[in-house]
Amino acid sequence: MSSGRLERVLRDIENASRDAGRPCARLVAVGKTRDAAELAALAVDWARAKPGVVPAFGENYVQEAAAKIAALEGAGIEWHLIGHLQSNKATQAAALFDWVQSVDRLKLVDALAAARPADRAPLSVLVQVNIDDEDSKHGCAPGDVPALADAIAARPRLALRGLMAIPAPRPDADARRAAFVAMRGLFDTLALRHPGVDTLSMGMSADFTEAIAEGATMVRVGTALFGART
Ligand SMILES: *Cc1c(COP(=O)(O)O)cnc(C)c1O
Repeated sequence: MSSGRLERVLRDIENASRDAGRPCARLVAVGKTRDAAELAALAVDWARAKPGVVPAFGENYVQEAAAKIAALEGAGIEWHLIGHLQSNKATQAAALFDWVQSVDRLKLVDALAAARPADRAPLSVLVQVNIDDEDSKHGCAPGDVPALADAIAARPRLALRGLMAIPAPRPDADARRAAFVAMRGLFDTLALRHPGVDTLSMGMSADFTEAIAEGATMVRVGTALFGART
């Protein structure tokens, strides 16, 4: 079904990473509105195309993800929460996911750290940054990154991995690049302070090659893999 699309996305990621002179960026396949069978089919194609790579899927809603994670248990998939997380869902999220990319406030740090089950590896966490200072967007202000990052790094049940952003969609390539460059600056500063930091998650279907050119190590792609959402 989507295997031609998957091959194209994987090839574009490889080429953009090579052009940027960096290790290949990781793909997170964004499965919102797609059912477990569609995700399973993509995971099979992915394993065939990239033996040894653990397929990673991103979900926006805890409830929607819970059903898919249960349906695909044992399939060897890494699950990322990429949508806004309400505090009252943090306990459930801490048990379900391998990564939470949308941590943007201290209350969530505390809730996730307290709830991460002892028999799981530490939860990998990204700080979501509202890089365009949009009122409607979630994410912390750039100036809040150091304090949040320090709080995450101090929690043994959490692993601080880096930063995530969803820049505002823009028709102008230079404006898009400016947001990615600003994120890269925050990321480099954070990595100096926290040597375990290795992940800069930015870029979606429309702009993931541009994001990789500016330093993304992880891209979140839905439409280019599955087709338009209805
Ligand atoms: C939906 C979504 C994506 C993927 O968007 P596409 O344009 O379909 O690739 C990436 N990141 C987040 C946070 C999303 O909600």
